[in-house]
Amino acid sequence: VMNPIPADSSKKTIVILGSGWASTSFLKSIDTELYNVVVVSPRNYFLFTPLLPSTTVGTIDHRSLVEPIRFITRHKPNEVKVYEAECTEIDSDKKIITIVDNSEVKGDRATSTIPYDYLVVGVGAQSQTFGIKGVEEYGCFLKEVWDAQKIRTKLMDCIETAAFPGQAPEEIERLLHMVVVGGGPTGIEYAAELHDFLAEDLSAWYPELVGKIKITLIEAMPNVLPAFSKQLIDYTESTFKEQHISLHTKTMVKEVKEKEIIVQGPSGEKEAMPYGLLVWATGNTTRPLIRNLMAQHPETQNIRRGLAVDDWLRMAGANDIYALGDATATKYAPTAQVAAQQGKYLARVFAQLHATEQYENELENAATAEEKAKKARKLQKAQDIKPFHYSHQGSLCYIGSDKAIADVPFGPGNVAAGGVATYAFWRSAYISNLFSARNRWLVITDWTKKTFWGRDISRE
Ligand code: FAD
Ligand code: NAD
Repeated sequence: VMNPIPADSSKKTIVILGSGWASTSFLKSIDTELYNVVVVSPRNYFLFTPLLPSTTVGTIDHRSLVEPIRFITRHKPNEVKVYEAECTEIDSDKKIITIVDNSEVKGDRATSTIPYDYLVVGVGAQSQTFGIKGVEEYGCFLKEVWDAQKIRTKLMDCIETAAFPGQAPEEIERLLHMVVVGGGPTGIEYAAELHDFLAEDLSAWYPELVGKIKITLIEAMPNVLPAFSKQLIDYTESTFKEQHISLHTKTMVKEVKEKEIIVQGPSGEKEAMPYGLLVWATGNTTRPLIRNLMAQHPETQNIRRGLAVDDWLRMAGANDIYALGDATATKYAPTAQVAAQQGKYLARVFAQLHATEQYENELENAATAEEKAKKARKLQKAQDIKPFHYSHQGSLCYIGSDKAIADVPFGPGNVAAGGVATYAFWRSAYISNLFSARNRWLVITDWTKKTFWGRDISRE
């Protein structure tokens, strides 16, 4: 049987779980001259999530936002093994993981195990439903490429079905009612993209339906975007009003049925709301793999939000497991910005761990007192690993009609800006953060195509 890890037995092996923001940032920076590296992820690509809402209406093609992991590993000086598989179990005592090929095509073997010296857990989180009945079955999440594809298909299906001859008026009204649950940045950006699509494209192609398409956003708290400054929240809410997006705050969804949701508003009364498309964006919850790992360490792992780690990203209660990004419970928000900085940081930690080992050996073998002192100094420096420090670059959110909002730290304070100029900033910030020159080219091409020909309305 082929060895699942790279062949160099003189080096320790790092197994990385996931190919999202955290793991990919780590992978880019880790030195494969120092370690054997194995990547395990059920998707063989990285996804640039900040522009994912744009793909739900075809402003950007989803292929423009992904980068195959092998495009990244091929630039590494030494071989990196990449397995498209899901890690289903972590045995932290034996230091072995179990992986399963959960894709549609399977060979004779769909399960395997991989030993590790160090495990880097960057499996992210999954969409939160709060166990509300019907969400999984009838709602659409917005987290992965396939979620965005599903939304796009369902949206066009609702519109074409509404245009079917003889459809009853109330059925047309239901089919054209697009409901978004969750007023965090995901829900807001999705509603904004949907608005633009209606205003800029659908009104031209379905003139008979214009005015009948309605967008509703439901938020449990008194206002949307709790993480943004008050003035930007107000600006977003007033922009949504201008865009005829109806905002229901202090409203909770109690149940989701096939064609209607049951909501409870501020008055406490329950009401049925018919819908055609339901997009569910109420944040994150822990993945089963992480919950199982936490259950193996009940004394140290008791934060439900995710894996507890220390300031060096070491999992509490386990040896040689590091965790980062949305899979962890830290003082930071679950954002790409945090995950990417943690990935880069952790690669530096591993360089220092390697240096520590090296100087320990050299110190042991040093012949003279002078050499010993020199090695001891080097060892001390390598052992001094600084804790993770997050540097916030600011928060951005697209709110529709070519307007964006930005909260950017400036000196000791903060600059809050909203409008069309901020949108130009939003665009340039995202373009410069895109993964590769190839992705930048593709996204700019998509934006240009949209400017000339509008969005594609074909159902996929
Ligand atoms: P992810 O990026 O989710 O990656 C997790 C990886 O683990 C994936 O590759 C997944 O396939 C893999 N995986 C899952 N299960 C397993 C398993 N069992 N075994 C192995 N691998 C597994 N943040 C910002 O800072 N700015 C933004 O503008 C922004 N916009 C966003 C827009 C949307 C629509 C969404 C959904 C999120 C946005 N975020 C943004 C948040 C950001 O995407 C997340 O915080 C970030 O993706 C977290 O990175 P991660 O690596 O921890 O997880
Ligand atoms: P979130 O947790 O930020 O927001 C979820 C919202 O849903 C909250 O406002 C919450 O009050 C509301 N909610 C919860 N339960 C509800 C219910 N039953 N009914 C109605 N409303 C309910 O989630 P998100 O928007 O998916 O964002 C997840 C993370 O990704 C955050 O850290 C966010 O900052 C980040 N993100 C950032 C951007 C950006 O910077 N532009 C875009 C998307 C996501």
